[in-house]
Amino acid sequence: MLTIRGLRHHYPGAAEIAFPDFDAGDAACVVLSGPSGSGKSTLIALASGLLEPQRGDLRVADTDLTALTPAQRDAWRGANLGVVPQRLHLSASLTVRQNLAMPYVSVGLPVDGARIDRLMQELAIDGLGARHPHQLSMGQCQRVAVARALVRRPRLLLVDEPTANLDDESAAGVMNLLTDAAGRVGAGLLIATHDTRVLAALPTARTLRLSRLLAEVSP
Ligand code: ADP
Ligand code: MG
Repeated sequence: MLTIRGLRHHYPGAAEIAFPDFDAGDAACVVLSGPSGSGKSTLIALASGLLEPQRGDLRVADTDLTALTPAQRDAWRGANLGVVPQRLHLSASLTVRQNLAMPYVSVGLPVDGARIDRLMQELAIDGLGARHPHQLSMGQCQRVAVARALVRRPRLLLVDEPTANLDDESAAGVMNLLTDAAGRVGAGLLIATHDTRVLAALPTARTLRLSRLLAEVSP
């Protein structure tokens, strides 16, 4: 699912981030943990092909990301990954149903309406198709974002801080939602979090722990 060797990222004007070597092997679930500022979102962006690997090797879902051009990374992401960013990034001007059609529309594929119907039922957001994001609760927005990530049946679902600002009950609900949803399409799950409740909810996950000074791998 994820292999990292000598990977570093340097934002202009900031200290270089060195990621620890890591091999997820055949783990179905990896938790990327560490304090705020340790590089979790950066690694999610690198693994999503949104940021270009500058130094080192990065393999995600059997693909060497250092070998791809930006356009190839975009096509690869659409075909293989589902990404749920921390701020969800639903399009405010589109309805829920139009948001769920975007993974097809944005790359010129025909919209699979039956697939969208099914996902909306599975994620309990059927009936919300005509609403806009501002007419939804936070939990509903999160379900729409997860549904959108699953539309094209990804091999890997990458999720950034899914439980930030959620109470315990909602956090448990989101973790169930993610593990159920990934399991249903047979997708691996990579979750970035600084929330110990996520680790507790995923006792069999492998952990890649980043620290601001020196990143380390466990177990
Ligand atoms: P985390 O998700 O673990 O909180 P990030 O990956 O967001 O960490 O950030 C890692 C480090 O990189 C932080 O020091 C942050 O300030 C810096 N950083 C993140 N994005 C940018 C950017 N676009 N430009 C410059 N520095 C950035
Ligand atoms: Mg982050």
